[in-house]
Amino acid sequence: MADLTKILLDESEMPTSWYNIVPDLPSPPPPALHPGTREPAGPDDFAPLFPMALIMQEVSQDSYIEIPEEVQEVYKLWRPSPLFRARRLEKALDTPARIYYKYEGVSPAGSHKPNTSVPQAYYNKMEGVSKLTTETGAGQWGTALAFACALFDMECEVWQVRASYDAKPYRKAMIETFGATIHPSPSEVTEYGRKLLADDPNNPGSLGIAISEAVEMAAPHPEIRYALGSVLNHVLMHQTIIGEEALKQLAKVDDTPDVIIGCTGGGSNFAGLTFPFLREKMAGKMNPTIRAVEPAACPSLTKGVYAYDFGDTAGMTPLMKMHTLGHDFIPDEIHAGGLRYHGMSPLISHIYELGLIEAESIHQTECFDAGVQFARNEGIVPAPEPTHALAGTVREALAAKEAGEERVILTALCGHGHLDMAAYDRYFSGDMIDYDYPEEKVRDALTRLPQDL
Ligand SMILES: *Cc1c(COP(=O)(O)O)cnc(C)c1O
Repeated sequence: MADLTKILLDESEMPTSWYNIVPDLPSPPPPALHPGTREPAGPDDFAPLFPMALIMQEVSQDSYIEIPEEVQEVYKLWRPSPLFRARRLEKALDTPARIYYKYEGVSPAGSHKPNTSVPQAYYNKMEGVSKLTTETGAGQWGTALAFACALFDMECEVWQVRASYDAKPYRKAMIETFGATIHPSPSEVTEYGRKLLADDPNNPGSLGIAISEAVEMAAPHPEIRYALGSVLNHVLMHQTIIGEEALKQLAKVDDTPDVIIGCTGGGSNFAGLTFPFLREKMAGKMNPTIRAVEPAACPSLTKGVYAYDFGDTAGMTPLMKMHTLGHDFIPDEIHAGGLRYHGMSPLISHIYELGLIEAESIHQTECFDAGVQFARNEGIVPAPEPTHALAGTVREALAAKEAGEERVILTALCGHGHLDMAAYDRYFSGDMIDYDYPEEKVRDALTRLPQDL
C-alpha cells in the first residue's frame, strides 16, 4: 500500500453522510440578518430563494446528514474521486515532504461544484420547483448546475460575469449542451442589470452583480428558486464528501497530514477538504495546520473586515457576518474567476476568527508558476483557482526542505483547466498582471457597508 501513486476507494466505500461542523465548534457562527429589519433571519426569510430542505440544512445542529440515495447514485458517476501522491512533483522540488492531492476534476463539470449542484437540484425538485437560476464566474458553477438540472429534468438559467463570458466562450457552449440558458451579466434581462448597463454599457460584471440578477429572477416566482455555488453552510457541508473520502484514503496508506492547503473563493472546496480533518483535530486525533490561500487581488480573509455585509451587490440577500471587501467592490480581472468574490463564507470567517485556520494571499504569476510546474510533473493542467493551493503547497514543500522535515501536505486540486487555456496563453506571453492588494478600492467599498450593525 505504502508505494501507491493513486489511492482509490470502491463505490461501496463512498461516504453516505455529509459532515456538519457547526455543532462541533466551540461557539456557533453569528446568525444571518434580514436585510430590512436587521433581525436574525428565520426560515421564512430564505423561503423565496431556497427550498425548505436546504434551509433546514443551513441551520442544522445535526453533525451528520444522510446523502439521499438518488444523490448517491449520481455521485457514483465520478465518485469516489482519486487521491494522488505527487511523487514527481516531490522529486522536482527535491523536498522530503510527502504531497497528496485530492482530484475533483474527474467530475462532469471538471470541478468540485457538482458535489453540491446535484443535491441542490434534487431537493428543489422534491419540493416542486421547476427552474433554478444562478450566477457563475469562470463558468464552473453554471456548468455544474446545468448538469444537475439536466439530470433532474429542470430548467436552468445562468448569469455569467461578463468578463468571463467574453474570455471563456466554451463554458457557454458547455452550459448550453446541458440544456441551460445563459446571459452575460450585467444583462438586459433584469431590472438591476438594465440599470447598471445604462450607467456603463461596458460594465465587466462581478459575482455580486450576477447574484443580484439571478436572485431578482427567482424571488417573485414560487416555481423558480435560486442556487448558490459556495459561501452558505449547506453548500460547504455538501462538499465535505471530499474530506471524508480523503480521510479514508490517507488511512489506507497510513499517513496523517501535517499541513492542509486549499484555495478559497467563497470557501466551499476548502471547507469540503478540511472540515472532516478539523473535526479530527478538534477531537485531538491529529494536529494539522490548515491554511487557506486566496488571490492577492481579492484577499477577503487576510485583508477584509469581519462585518455584516450583503452577499450580493444590489443588497437583496440576507446580511451575513463575514470577512468582506465590501459588497460593491469589483476585483481586478485575475484569471481565477472563481476566486473573485467580495466575501468569504460566514462559517469559514467564524472558524478563522476562532483561530482554527490560517490564511495567506498569493499573486497570480507565482500561482501559474506552480500550476505549470505541477502540469509538467503530474500531467494535469490545473484550473487557475487551484493554482493558488498549489503555490501554497510548493511554498510549504520548500519550507520543509529548508527545515529538513518530512512534512505531509494535503491539498485539493479542485478542478482542471481545460477551458481556461487562454489564461495559460497569457501567462506564457509574459503579460500576466500581478494585481496588488487594492487598498484604495477596498477602503472606498467599505464605506458602503451597512453601518448600523
Ligand atoms: C468555484 C470554484 C472555486 C471557488 O469556489 P470555492 O467555493 O472557494 O471552492 C475554486 N476552484 C474551482 C475549480 C471552482 O470551480
